[in-house]
Amino acid sequence: MTTPDKALTITVEARNSISSFCFEECHAYCCRKGYLPLNGKELKAVTKGNLPESKEQVKKIGEDQYSLYMGQSDKPCPSLSEWKCSIYKDNNRPKVCAEYPIFLDPKKKEVKLSPRCLAVREGKFYGCVGI
Ligand code: SF4
Ligand code: SF4
Repeated sequence: MTTPDKALTITVEARNSISSFCFEECHAYCCRKGYLPLNGKELKAVTKGNLPESKEQVKKIGEDQYSLYMGQSDKPCPSLSEWKCSIYKDNNRPKVCAEYPIFLDPKKKEVKLSPRCLAVREGKFYGCVGI
C-alpha cells in the first residue's frame, strides 16, 4: 500500500519530470491562459505589488480569494519571464502553481490531473514520448 509520504514523493517527482517539457516545448501554457485562483498574499507576490489596471484582469471571488485572468496573449501571468516563473522560490507563490498539474488529496486518497495540461494530454511524464 502507498503511504501518504510515498504518494507525495511520487507526485513531486512526476511534476519535476516535466519541467524541461514545460519550458522548452509547452512554453508555459498554464501561465499564459486561463484563470489563476489566489489569495491576497499570493496576488501581491504574483503582481509584485503592481495590480493590473484592468478590473477585468483581477476579480474578487470571495473572502481573501481572487481570480487572475490570463486569457489575452499580451497579458500572461505578470510573474512569467522567458517561459519561467520568476517567483518560483517565493513563499507566497500560489499554491495552485506549486501543485499544477497533479493535485494530490491524501485525505480522500485521490489524485487528479489537469486535463488542460499539455504534458498530461500527451503523456510526457518521466520523459515518455507519449502515444
Ligand atoms: S500546461 Fe502542463 S506542460 Fe504546459 S507548462 Fe503547464 S504544467 Fe507544463
Ligand atoms: S506565479 Fe509563476 S507558476 Fe504561477 S502562473 Fe505565474 S508564472 Fe506561472
